[in-house]
Amino acid sequence: MDIFFLGTGAGVPAKLRNVTSIALKLLEERGSIWLFDAGEATQHQILHTSIKPRRIEKIFITHLHGDHIYGLPGLLASRSFQGGESEVTVYGPKGIKEYITVSLSISQTYLKYPLKIVEIGAGIIFEDDQFTVEAQLLEHGIPSYGYRIVEKDKPGTLLAEKLVEAGVQPGPIFRKIKEGESVTLEDGRVIIPQDFLGPDQKGRIVTILGDTRYCENAISLALDADLLIHEATFSKGEETLAFDYFHSTTHQAAEVARRSGSKQLCLTHISSRYDRQASRELIAEAQEIFINTDIAEDFKEINIPSK
Ligand SMILES: [Zn+2]
Ligand SMILES: [Zn+2]
Repeated sequence: MDIFFLGTGAGVPAKLRNVTSIALKLLEERGSIWLFDAGEATQHQILHTSIKPRRIEKIFITHLHGDHIYGLPGLLASRSFQGGESEVTVYGPKGIKEYITVSLSISQTYLKYPLKIVEIGAGIIFEDDQFTVEAQLLEHGIPSYGYRIVEKDKPGTLLAEKLVEAGVQPGPIFRKIKEGESVTLEDGRVIIPQDFLGPDQKGRIVTILGDTRYCENAISLALDADLLIHEATFSKGEETLAFDYFHSTTHQAAEVARRSGSKQLCLTHISSRYDRQASRELIAEAQEIFINTDIAEDFKEINIPSK
């Protein structure tokens, strides 16, 4: 599981930072990639990476400001030319469906793969046997969502030696126990899987927030997250500006990380007013409150190791 930043800037594209797009690479977990926002030229950014558009399985849009969605129709269209045949689901606030369908129909774009568009509300918006994704509203000029991606716990490793000691021979019985099924042996003994499995392997939690003011929903979405990705459009001391423009400062992002018990914070949505040197100062500001802070750069990757 890795986070890969395709764009990390606020508002308008800049030389140092393109507008927002974040890839959650789940290649080992499910052979696919989930994208969060698709600012203009996201597909151009992808050209510089090993990401294959046909691997994109889901696209989560935080909100409908242009710097988060202008790259979406082009990306969806190109995926058709790049061998994408599997279904894509786009999740986003009300309006996303009209935006996509109008863009594709006016440009007479016909996709060669099924496209599902889900207009979301607050709550669990996706769940399968591997992951749940929860969305909650943040505080921005228009409806803006944060996403909490929770990997489900996996059963622990099979204690094979212990099974052999108990007189169970390797074979199909091992697989059943690994899958959590109780097994009755020929001699009548019942093998309870819990006795022969190590501790559950804890799933990971990643929280990716859309543009927002400092707010309580950000904290609940980030509860105990292994990685929190939070915007920091403004510097510390600019709280009034941040409030007026519905954004956050470095200190506010760090405060969300601290109060939520997140393990790691990565700042993004950085204004083009900050050059490389100034970006480092933004980290230092956040670290006054939350030490394990980093800042996103275009093409930066962060691994989220298994626990
Ligand atoms: Zn934005
Ligand atoms: Zn915005």
